[in-house]
Amino acid sequence: MALAILLGLSGSSQAAFVAPSTSSSTSVRARPAVMAQGDVLLDVEGLTANVADSEILKGVSLQVKRGEVHAIMGPNGSGKSTFSKVLVGHPAYEVTGGKAMYRDGEDLLELEPEERAQQGVFLAFQYPVEIPGVSNSDFLRLAVNKRRGALGLPEHDPIEFFGVLAEKMSTVGMSNDFIGRDVNGGFSGGEKKRNEILQMALLAPELAILDETDSGLDIDALKTVAEGVNTYKSDENAIVLITHYQRLLDYIKPDYVHVMSKGQIVRSGGPELALELEKDGYAFLDRS
Ligand code: ADP
Ligand code: MG
Repeated sequence: MALAILLGLSGSSQAAFVAPSTSSSTSVRARPAVMAQGDVLLDVEGLTANVADSEILKGVSLQVKRGEVHAIMGPNGSGKSTFSKVLVGHPAYEVTGGKAMYRDGEDLLELEPEERAQQGVFLAFQYPVEIPGVSNSDFLRLAVNKRRGALGLPEHDPIEFFGVLAEKMSTVGMSNDFIGRDVNGGFSGGEKKRNEILQMALLAPELAILDETDSGLDIDALKTVAEGVNTYKSDENAIVLITHYQRLLDYIKPDYVHVMSKGQIVRSGGPELALELEKDGYAFLDRS
């Protein structure tokens, strides 16, 4: 599904293949020449957003620097997935206020969804969708070539891409049987999650948002997925992990843990906050 956005598929037409947008926007700037650990990659302030005319995000603020891993936890329905979808420009969500700046001052909210993806913003969806009739490998190749184009790199031809794909598939523990299948077609829940991580590994985003990528995974799959994420992680990129479970954070160590409640980040801390939440739950939210 992340690829649907990359290729310009809108949320309401996920099942229909729409040709990738060829227009290049003047608002998309080239990748900055120097990327250093500690540079601000994402700066969100007071973000408010509606879905279906009700306000879900009520002033979210979050700053993410290159090299950092942030975990966002919080009760169901608190707006975590809404936040992630707003950042990638999902059309069902209307931003009503606040700002989200990307890299060195680009207004993320001004970019089209496919421009955000091509500029290195990636979302692994909580519920990846199946896209019947579109082969996974063609889809991945188109998406990767769009991203490479945005980076000023030459496109991979199909044979070259096959080599890249095979290598990345082995890192996420996917067998070659998946190459010829439709995007997520008949994949189990865990296979869909691995496919999202495969997309991430291929696209090499600067900002990767993983929405409950751990849910539905058995412990071996969880370890493989975490290894995939840890291999991708570098001083130049950043990861936002949305999760309910401390166990993922045993494998992917967060620098910061945030709690979202009722459309706002109400508490932030270090990795110890996740341990505290596992022990005590979210009861403190009722007291505050
Ligand atoms: P979380 O990921 O924290 O569980 P969500 O962001 O999925 O929370 O949902 C926050 C609230 O927004 C919920 O009340 C949910 O029902 C509502 N919501 C999210 N997406 C939609 C949508 N497309 N249409 C209507 N309501 C939605
Ligand atoms: Mg969610």
